[in-house]
Amino acid sequence: MLALNGNRQETAPMAPKESAAPAANVFEVAQQQLYRAAEVVQLDPAIRTILSQPKNELIVNFPVRMDDGSYRLFKGYRIQHSNIMGPYKGGVRYHPHVHLDEVKALAAWMTMKCALMEIPFGGAKGGVKFDPRQHSRDELERITRRFTHALGSNIGPNYDIPAPDMGTNSQTMVWMMDTYMNSAGQTDKNALRGVVTGKSPTSGGSLGREHATGLGLVYTIQEWAAETGFNLDGATFAVQGYGNVGAHAARILSRMGAVLVAVQDHTGAIRNTEGVHPQRLSKYVQTVGGVAGYPGGEIIDRRDFFSTPVDIFIPAAMEMQINADTAPLMRCKLVVEGANGPTDLDGERILADRGVTVLPDILANAGGVTVSYFEWLQNRRAEQWTEEDVELRLERMMQRAYATMRRLREERGVDNRTACHVHALSRIQAVYHERGIFP
Ligand code: NAD
Repeated sequence: MLALNGNRQETAPMAPKESAAPAANVFEVAQQQLYRAAEVVQLDPAIRTILSQPKNELIVNFPVRMDDGSYRLFKGYRIQHSNIMGPYKGGVRYHPHVHLDEVKALAAWMTMKCALMEIPFGGAKGGVKFDPRQHSRDELERITRRFTHALGSNIGPNYDIPAPDMGTNSQTMVWMMDTYMNSAGQTDKNALRGVVTGKSPTSGGSLGREHATGLGLVYTIQEWAAETGFNLDGATFAVQGYGNVGAHAARILSRMGAVLVAVQDHTGAIRNTEGVHPQRLSKYVQTVGGVAGYPGGEIIDRRDFFSTPVDIFIPAAMEMQINADTAPLMRCKLVVEGANGPTDLDGERILADRGVTVLPDILANAGGVTVSYFEWLQNRRAEQWTEEDVELRLERMMQRAYATMRRLREERGVDNRTACHVHALSRIQAVYHERGIFP
């Protein structure tokens, strides 16, 4: 008999000691950001109402066989916020703290990000509530395939296109693609490769996608440095989260002469005022699983990490990390949001009062979805662009979005985040006004 025990559903473990509990409801923060910009653009109240909630909320519970023969039930989400600008688009997160409001917020930010970047996609996000670190590669493959199967026709290359996020990577995307292709029953399977982006280049991914978010982040920092006359050579920075976004951003920024002095992840925090070597730390994290114990830095606690004086602070882990507790500790000129939603409303107010500039998530980390769009285009056209071509196109799009933010900030007298949302909402409103609201 199938040993399926509902009590074995994955539950969130206690938050690690090094991480603070989320300070605010993340979906409410996303809504407040949207409403603030809606006032500035005098958004049609009907459009404001539509955008205040996602269009579709899908929750699936699915069983997966573990290596020991037992079965475990997993909870997965796919939230489709808006497809007025194009197919739903957004990552899939594997993390023990995934919950409905989090995925709703992340989906709403994707709508704003794609509209800001002028990419023809809407917004979505997905997740499965479990800790991928606790599972073997075989279990991860079965979880991914079973989740993809459970999503069924709710995803598709012209309908809803997932991508990697926390806890997922190019391998996860290739498993998703393969499962979708084999379930769709179409003879031309290659036409379905665009169902996900962030695949490995050998399986239809784009060159340059792996480090695109980190690179895009650095392009926005360069724009800020050019705008303010700041010299990145010798500048100091700290990174929270040393995964795809944080590690690539650190590596690329250090090539410009900037010095990484503090890093925190789910295992702990380290500091070295002489400089942490980004690549050596990456190798260590890949081997050991986290930054704790890295020999090239002193061990510090969460409070010390946030208090370390740096020019640039890059949150690249969870949301709501910069809040009423941590923002007063921070001593930096610039916060560049690699993570989605790392700053809550209190944190944002405190940073503003203290004169800290914020480059908001929907701009700063948009390099990932931008190169995902390039990948989707390459799949449709059966092309393979060079890495140089990808990076050049990305740079131009990041520069254009930064220039738009800067212009709207000055014209409307608003902060960077609101300026970005203003551009996104104005574009969405223009489409609604032309098409009308169905029926
Ligand atoms: P990842 O899984 O590669 O790395 C996540 C990192 O965060 C790890 O170093 C982990 O140790 C750390 N972390 C987890 N919980 C933590 C905690 N409580 N305190 C401190 N550190 C913690 O994930 P990623 O793809 O780098 O994503 C990081 C952030 O960037 C997320 O907010 C994600 O939504 C956002 N983002 C990712 C992409 C992308 O292309 N991967 C694109 C845009 C935005």
